[in-house]
Amino acid sequence: MKDILSMLPEEISVEFQSMGLPAFRAKQVSHWLARGVDSFDEMKNLPLDLRSHLGEIYSIYRPTVLRKQVSEKDGTIKYLWGLADGNAVETVVMKYRYGNTVCISTQVGCRQGCAFCASTIGGLVRQMEPSEMLNEVLCSQLDSGEKISHVVLMGTGEPLDNYDNVIRFLSLLNHPDVFNLSLRHVSLSTCGVIERFDDLAALNLQLTLAVSLHAPDDETRTKIMPANQRRGVDALMQACRRYTEATGRRVSFEYAMIDGVNDTKTHAHLLVQRAKEVGAHVNLIPLNHVEESRYKPSTQGHLKAFIEILEESGVNVTVRRRLGSDIDASCGQLRRKFEKSREK
Ligand code: SAH
Repeated sequence: MKDILSMLPEEISVEFQSMGLPAFRAKQVSHWLARGVDSFDEMKNLPLDLRSHLGEIYSIYRPTVLRKQVSEKDGTIKYLWGLADGNAVETVVMKYRYGNTVCISTQVGCRQGCAFCASTIGGLVRQMEPSEMLNEVLCSQLDSGEKISHVVLMGTGEPLDNYDNVIRFLSLLNHPDVFNLSLRHVSLSTCGVIERFDDLAALNLQLTLAVSLHAPDDETRTKIMPANQRRGVDALMQACRRYTEATGRRVSFEYAMIDGVNDTKTHAHLLVQRAKEVGAHVNLIPLNHVEESRYKPSTQGHLKAFIEILEESGVNVTVRRRLGSDIDASCGQLRRKFEKSREK
């Protein structure tokens, strides 16, 4: 069966036309899909025989809530969704002053191998479909009753390693008859799959490209991000510069502060050079400790000294607030726990 939730309204329209249906039928169906229905039977303004005919051609799959955790501290909500094939992915809804942000997964598992991240421990299981990513946003909104205004592709998975599906998902998210969200309110985070930077730049989307740098030099970066070995920091910086030149958009660097690994003054000075080379904004993230990992967050003292060096050098820097720390709300930890309990 065909996954209709991964189709753009125009594509549904073309297919319906070739089936000899009047144009308004496609509009009606797209309208119902955008509202979150999970079967053609709910489409009350379609004739009964058409409902059952479409139900034989197309599937409408919505994920089930396997777990839902709500932070008592800050209202952050974490979902573990069950997908059609029995896999599970996690999504987080965070409440910021500027609006509710949903952090979505883009792959089931991940093959990038970052040493501090829980998402990659079991490797890549499979790519996620555009419909599955869209459902993370839509179903989070419907279940929580919270209007979603911002989307970040910062959950499990490497978005640029699932490029075509991610781009299609973004078209759906942005489409006025699907989710109608401005891509200005979207951030795509990558560990640096630079082979895709030029493709992405050519699309000239309004989203923010966030680059998980985490270390300004190859020695440190390869230690914590093995994918760096193949490409290297210099090549990554060149790709960032090209992206900015082509799109006129600054990239931002994500930098998780890891005790004794990437948080010395030497690292800070090197990071200043990198940020200036590229004109990047730096977003410091206090490391979330992952059970399986030996890495620990930097001390407050080191964090402060690090920030000072960046600020004194005129680098634009922010420190990410920790949300949902009481509910494993980061970096694949809920899915990881679920998979572990399933292994038993
Ligand atoms: N694969 C993409 C997007 C998913 S990870 C990427 O690498 O950017 C989203 C962000 O969370 C990345 O910056 C990632 O490096 C960071 N991250 C992963 N594990 C973390 C941890 N334990 N503490 C803090 N940040 C972490």
